Amino acid sequence: MSIVIYPGSFDPITFGHLDVVQRASRMFDRVIIAVANNYSKTHLFSQLQRKRLVEKAVAGLENVEVDCLSGLLVDFVSRKKGDAVLRGLRALSDFEFEFQLALTNRKLKEEVETIFMMPKDIYTFLSSKIVKEIARLGGDIRDFVPAHVEKALNAKMKRSNKTSH
Ligand code: ADP
Repeated sequence: MSIVIYPGSFDPITFGHLDVVQRASRMFDRVIIAVANNYSKTHLFSQLQRKRLVEKAVAGLENVEVDCLSGLLVDFVSRKKGDAVLRGLRALSDFEFEFQLALTNRKLKEEVETIFMMPKDIYTFLSSKIVKEIARLGGDIRDFVPAHVEKALNAKMKRSNKTSH
């Protein structure tokens, strides 16, 4: 059985992430999405909220499951008996960081391989950060995230606008 681990912040999950998950679910027997806390980023949604939004987004994909990641990714991969780590590559700008991350994980545990997948071209510009920015400014994000994520984002923005006034 082939198992791939897809780690990320997913703050929140977008159609770009989902495109990568769908591709992986056709290639691997099991896909485990690991929702992580990235300490160099300030998250809009809590880890549990992000996990729930991901769970709802992948509910139709039978071989995809969602977990919270704490501790080192390479240890999580061993615990789950993962064959590889999956990351998405959008553009050249992702490459340097992803390259560093993959080789660091290999240094920490030699047997952990990282594979990269590119999303459909229309999602190559898409990031959680951009979606949050558009939502904050009251723009339409329906083309970028599933309906339940749109709802959660708009509710969050409304609440933060109220408290900042
Ligand atoms: P992290 O904070 O770990 O980078 P993200 O949620 O931002 O978490 O991204 C998780 C993974 O998904 C990363 O490998 C990132 O490059 C990839 N990714 C994010 N957005 C897209 C997209 N639109 N298309 C393809 N991959 C993406």
